[in-house]
Amino acid sequence: MLEIAGLRAGYGPIEILHGVDLAVAAGEVVALLGSNGAGKSTLNNTVSGLLRPVAGSIAFDGAAIAGWPSMRIVARGLVQVPEGRRVFPNLTVRDNLALGSYRRGGAARARNLERVAAIFPRLKERWRQLAGTLSGGEQQMLAIGRGLMGEPRLLILDEPSLGLSPLLVEEMFALIGRLNADGLAILLVEQNVVQSLAVAHRAYVLENGRIALSGKAADLAQDPGLRKSYLGH
Ligand code: ATP
Repeated sequence: MLEIAGLRAGYGPIEILHGVDLAVAAGEVVALLGSNGAGKSTLNNTVSGLLRPVAGSIAFDGAAIAGWPSMRIVARGLVQVPEGRRVFPNLTVRDNLALGSYRRGGAARARNLERVAAIFPRLKERWRQLAGTLSGGEQQMLAIGRGLMGEPRLLILDEPSLGLSPLLVEEMFALIGRLNADGLAILLVEQNVVQSLAVAHRAYVLENGRIALSGKAADLAQDPGLRKSYLGH
């Protein structure tokens, strides 16, 4: 579904990604792990069209999307939920969600609002509340709900568990499992190694702009090097 090969990208003269290969197949949850500054957000932003690659290819559903504007990538079914929530604080929950389907007609929007309400009953209870007054966890749900409004076939989640309480982190990973069980492919960018590997089918570890390790999530969970680097034991 998503095939990235030899991807090089960065900011001006500074190259951050030095030739990254990564793939997500239909129906998969793939975790992209790595410490701060490894280049995870840079990879995300390149795939979602915010950053133009210097070299390499990005194919989504058979189309070479490298360099496409974000809108066109979203319209094709690849939706990114950015790190740090970024909801519109002065709009209601419902209006924030409606913006996620701005390209689609009224009937599709109503159907998607209903679907998101069913996935996030807590948001439904707060339909008319201003998004800026939601708790951090609720804002994270809203950001994901908005992503789902675009009817993605591949969802990229950038650190969805960041800043959540342990209980909400559990809920977040359970949600990822449920969305995937409904057929959604997910690229999960995370620092939460243990829970990411528990929900993912496969994983990649990005270090200094290069894939240092990749494989089945269950195998990586046992990898001594990864355990030492990321779990401290
Ligand atoms: P984190 O988990 O901390 O978000 P990350 O793996 O997502 O880290 P990136 O945000 O991709 O890492 O950053 C990779 C490197 O790129 C860092 O050294 C960062 O300082 C640099 N960088 C990010 N954005 C820019 C920018 N706009 N201009 C210049 N350098 C940048």
